[in-house]
Amino acid sequence: MPPPIQRAKGWAQAGALPLLLAGAGVLLVTGAFAAPRVWPWLLLIVIGLGALLRWGLSQTTPLHHAVEGSLLAAVSALALTQATGGLWSPLYPLMYLLGAGYLLALPLRVSLPLVAALIGLDLAIFAPVLQAQWPLLLSHAGFTVLFAALYHALLSARLLLAQRAETTAVRRRVADVEERARELRLVATAGTDGDTSGRQLLAGVAEIEDVLRGALSVAEAALHPHAVAIFLLAPDGESVRLRECASESDALFRGPLSTREGALGAVLSSAGSVRLDGARDSLSYYQGRPEVAAFCGVPLTERSGTLLGALVADRAEAFSESDQRVLEALSAEVTRAIEAERLLSAVRREKEEKARFFDALEELNRTTTPLQAAESAVLQARRMCPALDLCAVTLLDGRRHRILAALGPSSGALKDLSFADNAGLVSNVVKLGAPLPGRALSAMDRVVIFDNGTVVRGLQALKIFPLRAGEVTVGTLVCGAQKADALPEAAQRELSMLALQAAEALVRTRLYEQMERLATVDGLTGLLNRRTFDSQLQARLREAQRYRRPLSLLLLDVDHFKKVNDTYGHPAGDAVLQGVARLAQVQARETDLVARYGGEEMALVLPETDARGALIIAERIRAAVAAAQHPTEQGALQVTLSIGVATWPGAGADPEALLASADKALYRAKQSGRNRVEASRSRAAA
Ligand code: GH3
Ligand code: MG
Ligand code: MG
Repeated sequence: MPPPIQRAKGWAQAGALPLLLAGAGVLLVTGAFAAPRVWPWLLLIVIGLGALLRWGLSQTTPLHHAVEGSLLAAVSALALTQATGGLWSPLYPLMYLLGAGYLLALPLRVSLPLVAALIGLDLAIFAPVLQAQWPLLLSHAGFTVLFAALYHALLSARLLLAQRAETTAVRRRVADVEERARELRLVATAGTDGDTSGRQLLAGVAEIEDVLRGALSVAEAALHPHAVAIFLLAPDGESVRLRECASESDALFRGPLSTREGALGAVLSSAGSVRLDGARDSLSYYQGRPEVAAFCGVPLTERSGTLLGALVADRAEAFSESDQRVLEALSAEVTRAIEAERLLSAVRREKEEKARFFDALEELNRTTTPLQAAESAVLQARRMCPALDLCAVTLLDGRRHRILAALGPSSGALKDLSFADNAGLVSNVVKLGAPLPGRALSAMDRVVIFDNGTVVRGLQALKIFPLRAGEVTVGTLVCGAQKADALPEAAQRELSMLALQAAEALVRTRLYEQMERLATVDGLTGLLNRRTFDSQLQARLREAQRYRRPLSLLLLDVDHFKKVNDTYGHPAGDAVLQGVARLAQVQARETDLVARYGGEEMALVLPETDARGALIIAERIRAAVAAAQHPTEQGALQVTLSIGVATWPGAGADPEALLASADKALYRAKQSGRNRVEASRSRAAA
């Protein structure tokens, strides 16, 4: 099919339904549905069927469909209203329903214009016919808006409540797992173990609870008790809580219960097994008076002697000594499982810590510049301790500190900040070579981390680690968080190890950079050395030829330099050479390469420069040198330069040919009296 026809068909498909809907709107406004006629209704039915067919076939977005559907519903509702008495129609509340329905089914940005369109259509239909009925019309419109708004408000409130309830439920569940983990001594105390992954904790707790339930089933099968239960001590040791039980009665207290009350209290305070008969009043873990009177309880004691809780059973008939031994064996089983799980979680934690550390090491080792090393260090620190809100690496550079990398909300302002060696914490950490602050942040009046002008707000936890390599402290790793418990012991240990490795990486990359500079730069003049010049000339010439851009080469030679050396000595000659090099560097452009070619000769590569441009620059350098005084120990000296210029294309197609051309031009400059610039005249093939 030719494209214009195809396009027209596309428009027809997309436009037919909106057009028909607009047509139905016109019918409504003209009151076509008020008279008992069939054809407007037939049209409406056709539109409805058409819409269904179109939505079934087309590929357009569901939102598009929803808008068309909403308009169709509006037209239909208004048609029904019009047919059944207009403003006094018993079907009028359909409008309210529609308004509310839009808000329920569609996003606000669509539903609000739809409600407006509905009211607009309503006014357009009934206002002309019922000019005297403005108050009624307006009250209908008002109700439509009111219902829609009420509906929206109610719905939003319900949603918000549901969300809140869910968040609270999740939080409660996490707190519950943590509580249980603390009872089982899987974690030390609340909040101090920030890096324990919640999932692992949950798995560990579930594992132990399986063992607890298993022990209870065995006890049930062996002893046929009325109830058998495990109570665990709270971390403070002052109360116990029912953790697992198997009982015919549901009158058991969940706790907290005192550790000193009744038969259970006797087991806990003596940390030994207790067997009683006729002890109905001592079974304090029942709500109300228990139905049974025989009790047998054994402590859950770890091998280290730590009391975890008690395993208790009760029933009508008295317990025998062998019953007690069964419970004791189960208690040993349970405590062993808890101990094993604790060991396992410690091993797991350590393994994770090590893996993280080795990852960090590997990444730091891959860095080649101090900047990369610093950026990697802050990233690793954040990975080790996700609760960090501020993480930065500072480097001491002479007498100033510089923030090389920073992460966190205020990191934009911190990056590249440079500040003097002062009384701030960073300066002190570098001076002391030890982490700071030693005290809690809240105990300090005001913390100056970097300098007085740089305020970091909202930190509740802070530790600055020295970056020590051997005996020297090269900088610091600054770690801060808004949560007071974000830097527990374990995290600090990990971060200080990271700081050690980061320091090594910073020193290594700094050395690397220095070595690289030494390898490419001439020691006396600071210009590129001959080796770098050769490779750069080759690369730039190749590039120029590929893009067919001109490139020029200047060869500079100091005139009668031997005389300078002979008259004033080599050191004075060196000072003159440094001065000439500096002038050449200043006169060249940023993209030009300036090199010491050998002895008192220098060379410049000028990319994107034809012979005319090169002559101008060469002349600029010559004039600058001729005018300059070079201070030496023997007084100010003045020298002149001769310069040979060669340009590609024309003066040679490879570095050797180009150099030979420039050399020839230089020779001519010398021959013609020195202190002058000569361009190559050779016409070697390009
Ligand atoms: P002209 O170039 O004008 O023909 O005369 P010239 O005296 O400069 O001759 P030539 O270029 O051959 O002399 C090079 C001299 O530069 C020889 C050497 O003593 C001196 N020279 C080379 N390298 C150094 C250096 O690193 N320091 C000093 N002080 N002198 C150097
Ligand atoms: Mg020379
Ligand atoms: Mg010379």
